[in-house]
Amino acid sequence: MSILAECQECFKQYRVPDDKAGRKFRCRGCNAFVHVPDGHEDEYQDASWGEPEAPISS
Ligand SMILES: [Zn+2]
Repeated sequence: MSILAECQECFKQYRVPDDKAGRKFRCRGCNAFVHVPDGHEDEYQDASWGEPEAPISS
């Protein structure tokens, strides 16, 4: 499963694995810290996970 995390500065969205819940990483768009929500988002459970902090392609 994965979690949707959104940058609060530039609103770029990332899918991160749920073992990253409660963690944070730097946004690739604006370099701000993005907080990963501590919870499960079942609707994203089928998301394929490549590399950590990968932006969702538009
Ligand atoms: Zn950002």
